[in-house]
Amino acid sequence: MEYVILAVVIAVIAVGAVAGLVVSGRRRKELPPKSTTTIAPPAPEAPAPQAEEPHVGDEAAPPREEPVQTVEEVELPPTAETVEVTPEQVIEAPALEVPEPTAGRLVRLRSRLSRSQNALGKGLLTLLSRDRLDEDTWEEIEDTLLTADIGVAPTQELVERLRTRVKVLGTRSPEELRGLLREELVDLIGADSDRSLHTAKQADGRPAVVLVVGVNGVGKTTTSGKLGRVLVADGRTVVLGAADTFRAAAADQLQTWGERVGARTVRGPEGGDPASVAFDAVKEAIAEGADTVLIDTAGRLHTKTGLMDELGKVKRVVEKHGPVNEVLLVLDATTGQNGLVQARVFAEVVDITGIVLTKLDGTAKGGIVVAVQRELGVPVKLIGLGEGADDLAPFEPGAFVDALIGD
Ligand code: GDP
Repeated sequence: MEYVILAVVIAVIAVGAVAGLVVSGRRRKELPPKSTTTIAPPAPEAPAPQAEEPHVGDEAAPPREEPVQTVEEVELPPTAETVEVTPEQVIEAPALEVPEPTAGRLVRLRSRLSRSQNALGKGLLTLLSRDRLDEDTWEEIEDTLLTADIGVAPTQELVERLRTRVKVLGTRSPEELRGLLREELVDLIGADSDRSLHTAKQADGRPAVVLVVGVNGVGKTTTSGKLGRVLVADGRTVVLGAADTFRAAAADQLQTWGERVGARTVRGPEGGDPASVAFDAVKEAIAEGADTVLIDTAGRLHTKTGLMDELGKVKRVVEKHGPVNEVLLVLDATTGQNGLVQARVFAEVVDITGIVLTKLDGTAKGGIVVAVQRELGVPVKLIGLGEGADDLAPFEPGAFVDALIGD
């Protein structure tokens, strides 16, 4: 009996031991493995591969060498923003600027003129308002006009007319004097001149061709860019030709201007043939059905013959496509008489159809408008009044004179 009890006790202990082993084996499977195997924590960007579950008795695997992941190599999981977007939608078009309308620009920019030209307009009004208009006063009026670069002949004409009209006038109220001076200055500048830009598509469907000429530094490329904006503002499609292949960065500068308003720039290799760039620009503008092609030319005024060869060739080559509609000469108003010398040289090389006077915001010599028109017999069509993108205005004699003498 005692043997029987002992056998039962041994059997119970044996069963218990076997059961214990099974449970502990199961539990071990559920616990995290204690081996030294390193499982890389999943990178936030890319899911890490699953490590194989170690088994009891397995050799501890050596630490895995994690490959160094560069940003480019990491495959991004699709996100809510990109998952349903087509490739065309992902490439964002640069936002185009909307240039200011050209109508009334001069009126908006008049403060730039008033600031720089005060000496002329206000000086004249003050002198004319003196109690006694004696010889000395008339001489002072003449000096003021000459200092403003109006030129000798126009100054004498103006003083003569003013003297006569003041004598006839009798009374000289401030309003009367202002009206008188305004009329005479507007007349001198030329109220009737045709200052329109010929930039509209031609009857046969070809684009209008505009050449922009002038020496380096006068603001030629800037003006081409600003003029591109003026045309876009007026609803035209524009192609820009970067034919100033000699000045480093001129083409980049022009292209940047174009990109801002959605105008394409045709360019050639640096130092390449300006005439061939100009030719290609017109060709592409024709192919695209553009309204206007604006060609920024090289302005190296090394010798007159050199200029003649270069600019003459550009014009001839472009004319293979048809006539050039505008040749705009850009002059820096701050250079005064020097600008007039340049104007003469250019006028001998090409038929200038209009003048763009830049940097009028930086000089008190607004009279250059009168002098340069007389010199070339060509109207000022546009004026530059600052470095801002929309600081180029169609020239209007009335608004210009109002800015000089104040309302
Ligand atoms: P380019 O060599 O004739 O093509 O001259 P750029 O177009 O490069 O212009 C020369 C400099 O004149 C630039 O710094 C322009 O910003 C500046 N400029 C152009 N037009 C005007 C203007 O109307 N007013 C002022 N203040 N600066 C201007």
